[in-house]
Amino acid sequence: MRGLYIGRFQPYHLGHQAVLEEIAREVDEIVIVIGSAQESHGPENPFTSGERMEMIYAALGKGELRKRCIVTTLQDINRNSLWVSHLQSMVPCFDLVYSNNPLVIRLFSEAGVEVKKPPLYQRDVYSGSAIRALMRERGDWERLVPPAVAGFIQEINGVERLCQVSKSDSVHSADSA
Ligand code: NAD
Repeated sequence: MRGLYIGRFQPYHLGHQAVLEEIAREVDEIVIVIGSAQESHGPENPFTSGERMEMIYAALGKGELRKRCIVTTLQDINRNSLWVSHLQSMVPCFDLVYSNNPLVIRLFSEAGVEVKKPPLYQRDVYSGSAIRALMRERGDWERLVPPAVAGFIQEINGVERLCQVSKSDSVHSADSA
Protein backbone atom coordinates (compact mmCIF):
# COMPACT_ATOMS: atom_id res chain seq x y z
CA MET A 1 0.00 0.00 0.00
CA ARG A 2 1.42 3.40 -1.01
CA GLY A 3 0.24 6.78 0.32
CA LEU A 4 0.88 10.20 -1.19
CA TYR A 5 1.64 13.26 0.92
CA ILE A 6 1.88 16.60 -0.92
CA GLY A 7 2.91 19.96 0.50
CA ARG A 8 4.90 23.08 -0.23
CA PHE A 9 7.03 22.46 2.86
CA GLN A 10 8.08 26.14 3.17
CA PRO A 11 9.73 25.07 5.44
CA TYR A 12 9.32 21.39 6.42
CA HIS A 13 8.22 21.52 10.08
CA LEU A 14 7.30 19.28 13.02
CA GLY A 15 3.61 19.28 12.02
CA HIS A 16 4.61 17.79 8.64
CA GLN A 17 6.86 15.30 10.44
CA ALA A 18 4.04 14.22 12.78
CA VAL A 19 1.74 13.67 9.78
CA LEU A 20 4.44 11.66 8.02
CA GLU A 21 4.93 9.42 11.06
CA GLU A 22 1.16 8.92 11.25
CA ILE A 23 1.02 7.95 7.55
CA ALA A 24 3.94 5.55 8.06
CA ARG A 25 1.86 3.64 10.58
CA GLU A 26 -0.83 3.03 7.94
CA VAL A 27 0.98 2.36 4.64
CA ASP A 28 4.10 0.55 3.46
CA GLU A 29 5.53 3.35 1.31
CA ILE A 30 5.01 7.11 1.12
CA VAL A 31 5.40 9.30 -1.95
CA ILE A 32 6.28 12.76 -0.62
CA VAL A 33 5.58 15.36 -3.30
CA ILE A 34 7.15 18.80 -2.99
CA GLY A 35 4.51 20.99 -4.64
CA SER A 36 4.94 24.45 -6.21
CA ALA A 37 8.42 23.25 -7.20
CA GLN A 38 8.92 26.27 -9.48
CA GLU A 39 8.59 28.69 -6.57
CA SER A 40 11.50 30.09 -4.52
CA HIS A 41 12.98 33.34 -3.24
CA GLY A 42 9.60 34.84 -2.33
CA PRO A 43 8.01 35.75 1.03
CA GLU A 44 5.57 32.82 0.87
CA ASN A 45 7.98 30.45 -0.85
CA PRO A 46 11.53 31.27 0.23
CA PHE A 47 13.14 27.88 -0.44
CA THR A 48 13.86 26.10 -3.73
CA SER A 49 12.46 22.63 -4.36
CA GLY A 50 15.98 21.24 -4.02
CA GLU A 51 16.41 22.90 -0.64
CA ARG A 52 13.05 21.56 0.52
CA MET A 53 14.13 18.09 -0.60
CA GLU A 54 17.32 18.47 1.46
CA MET A 55 15.20 19.47 4.48
CA ILE A 56 13.00 16.39 4.13
CA TYR A 57 15.96 14.02 3.71
CA ALA A 58 17.69 15.64 6.70
CA ALA A 59 14.56 15.16 8.83
CA LEU A 60 14.11 11.56 7.69
CA GLY A 61 17.64 10.67 8.75
CA LYS A 62 19.05 7.33 7.69
CA GLY A 63 16.63 4.95 9.42
CA GLU A 64 13.77 2.70 8.40
CA LEU A 65 11.38 5.57 7.56
CA ARG A 66 13.71 6.98 4.91
CA LYS A 67 13.81 3.62 3.10
CA ARG A 68 10.03 3.73 2.83
CA CYS A 69 9.81 7.27 1.40
CA ILE A 70 10.11 8.42 -2.21
CA VAL A 71 10.63 12.18 -2.41
CA THR A 72 9.82 13.97 -5.64
CA THR A 73 8.85 17.44 -6.90
CA LEU A 74 5.94 18.83 -8.89
CA GLN A 75 5.38 22.20 -10.54
CA ASP A 76 1.97 23.89 -10.35
CA ILE A 77 -0.25 24.22 -13.40
CA ASN A 78 -2.77 26.99 -14.00
CA ARG A 79 -5.81 24.69 -14.39
CA ASN A 80 -7.00 23.09 -11.17
CA SER A 81 -9.38 20.81 -13.09
CA LEU A 82 -6.39 19.09 -14.74
CA TRP A 83 -4.07 19.07 -11.73
CA VAL A 84 -4.73 15.51 -10.51
CA SER A 85 -4.00 14.10 -14.01
CA HIS A 86 -0.87 16.27 -14.19
CA LEU A 87 0.27 14.92 -10.81
CA GLN A 88 -0.52 11.31 -11.72
CA SER A 89 1.51 11.66 -14.91
CA MET A 90 4.57 12.91 -13.02
CA VAL A 91 4.85 10.92 -9.78
CA PRO A 92 5.05 7.21 -8.88
CA CYS A 93 1.73 5.34 -8.50
CA PHE A 94 -0.11 5.60 -5.19
CA ASP A 95 -3.25 4.14 -3.61
CA LEU A 96 -4.49 7.01 -1.45
CA VAL A 97 -3.72 10.61 -0.51
CA TYR A 98 -3.21 12.23 2.88
CA SER A 99 -4.07 15.94 3.07
CA ASN A 100 -5.76 18.61 5.15
CA ASN A 101 -5.65 21.17 2.33
CA PRO A 102 -9.28 21.79 1.22
CA LEU A 103 -8.42 22.34 -2.47
CA VAL A 104 -6.24 19.24 -2.61
CA ILE A 105 -8.97 17.18 -0.88
CA ARG A 106 -11.59 18.51 -3.31
CA LEU A 107 -9.57 17.85 -6.47
CA PHE A 108 -8.57 14.29 -5.52
CA SER A 109 -12.09 13.44 -4.30
CA GLU A 110 -13.62 14.64 -7.59
CA ALA A 111 -11.08 12.48 -9.43
CA GLY A 112 -12.23 9.43 -7.42
CA VAL A 113 -9.00 9.12 -5.38
CA GLU A 114 -9.35 8.16 -1.70
CA VAL A 115 -8.26 10.98 0.62
CA LYS A 116 -7.57 10.66 4.34
CA LYS A 117 -7.29 13.69 6.63
CA PRO A 118 -4.50 13.20 9.17
CA PRO A 119 -4.97 14.70 12.65
CA LEU A 120 -3.92 18.35 13.00
CA TYR A 121 -0.90 18.98 15.23
CA GLN A 122 -1.26 22.45 16.81
CA ARG A 123 -1.90 23.91 13.34
CA ASP A 124 -1.68 27.50 14.65
CA VAL A 125 1.87 26.87 15.91
CA TYR A 126 3.13 24.30 13.41
CA SER A 127 2.33 26.14 10.20
CA GLY A 128 4.61 27.38 7.43
CA SER A 129 3.23 30.94 7.58
CA ALA A 130 3.63 31.16 11.39
CA ILE A 131 7.20 29.86 11.14
CA ARG A 132 8.10 32.28 8.32
CA ALA A 133 6.65 35.14 10.41
CA LEU A 134 8.82 34.07 13.36
CA MET A 135 11.86 33.93 11.08
CA ARG A 136 11.18 37.49 9.88
CA GLU A 137 10.87 38.68 13.51
CA ARG A 138 14.09 36.83 14.39
CA GLY A 139 11.98 34.82 16.86
CA ASP A 140 12.35 31.31 18.17
CA TRP A 141 11.46 29.38 14.99
CA GLU A 142 14.08 26.63 15.38
CA ARG A 143 12.03 24.68 17.95
CA LEU A 144 9.18 24.30 15.41
CA VAL A 145 11.21 22.37 12.83
CA PRO A 146 13.25 19.15 13.15
CA PRO A 147 16.77 19.99 14.44
CA ALA A 148 18.38 18.85 11.17
CA VAL A 149 16.09 21.21 9.23
CA ALA A 150 17.02 24.14 11.50
CA GLY A 151 20.69 23.34 10.90
CA PHE A 152 20.19 23.22 7.12
CA ILE A 153 18.28 26.54 7.04
CA GLN A 154 21.07 28.18 9.04
CA GLU A 155 23.68 26.68 6.69
CA ILE A 156 22.05 28.28 3.63
CA ASN A 157 21.35 31.59 5.42
CA GLY A 158 17.67 30.98 4.85
CA VAL A 159 16.43 33.52 7.39
CA GLU A 160 18.49 36.31 5.78
CA ARG A 161 17.09 35.37 2.39
CA LEU A 162 13.51 35.38 3.66
CA CYS A 163 13.98 38.76 5.37
CA GLN A 164 15.54 40.28 2.25
CA VAL A 165 12.92 39.02 -0.21
CA SER A 166 10.14 40.14 2.16
CA LYS A 167 11.32 43.77 2.14
CA SER A 168 9.64 46.49 0.15
CA ASP A 169 11.83 48.65 -2.10
CA SER A 170 10.02 51.83 -0.92
CA VAL A 171 12.65 52.71 1.71
CA HIS A 172 15.41 52.18 -0.82
CA SER A 173 13.50 54.25 -3.42
CA ALA A 174 12.94 57.06 -0.95
CA ASP A 175 16.65 57.03 -0.09
CA SER A 176 17.73 57.14 -3.71
CA ALA A 177 15.06 59.63 -4.83
P1 NAD B 1 1.74 22.75 3.23
O1 NAD B 1 3.21 22.58 3.27
O2 NAD B 1 1.11 23.98 3.77
O3 NAD B 1 1.03 21.53 3.96
C1 NAD B 1 1.24 20.19 3.55
C2 NAD B 1 0.20 19.30 4.22
O4 NAD B 1 0.47 19.22 5.62
C3 NAD B 1 -1.24 19.82 4.08
O5 NAD B 1 -2.11 18.72 3.92
C4 NAD B 1 -1.48 20.51 5.40
O6 NAD B 1 -2.84 20.58 5.73
C5 NAD B 1 -0.69 19.58 6.34
N1 NAD B 1 -0.26 20.23 7.58
C6 NAD B 1 0.50 21.34 7.71
N2 NAD B 1 0.69 21.63 9.02
C7 NAD B 1 0.04 20.67 9.71
C8 NAD B 1 -0.13 20.42 11.11
N3 NAD B 1 0.36 21.23 12.05
N4 NAD B 1 -0.86 19.33 11.46
C9 NAD B 1 -1.38 18.50 10.53
N5 NAD B 1 -1.27 18.71 9.19
C10 NAD B 1 -0.55 19.77 8.80
O7 NAD B 1 1.37 22.55 1.69
P2 NAD B 1 0.01 22.75 0.85
O8 NAD B 1 -0.18 24.18 0.53
O9 NAD B 1 -1.12 22.00 1.43
O10 NAD B 1 0.49 22.02 -0.50
C11 NAD B 1 -0.38 21.78 -1.54
C12 NAD B 1 0.41 21.84 -2.84
O11 NAD B 1 -0.44 21.40 -3.89
C13 NAD B 1 0.89 23.25 -3.18
O12 NAD B 1 2.19 23.19 -3.72
C14 NAD B 1 -0.11 23.67 -4.24
O13 NAD B 1 0.38 24.64 -5.15
C15 NAD B 1 -0.35 22.34 -4.94
N6 NAD B 1 -1.56 22.39 -5.75
C16 NAD B 1 -1.42 22.83 -7.02
C17 NAD B 1 -2.52 22.93 -7.84
C18 NAD B 1 -2.29 23.41 -9.23
O14 NAD B 1 -1.13 23.48 -9.65
N7 NAD B 1 -3.33 23.77 -9.99
C19 NAD B 1 -3.78 22.59 -7.35
C20 NAD B 1 -3.90 22.14 -6.04
C21 NAD B 1 -2.77 22.05 -5.23
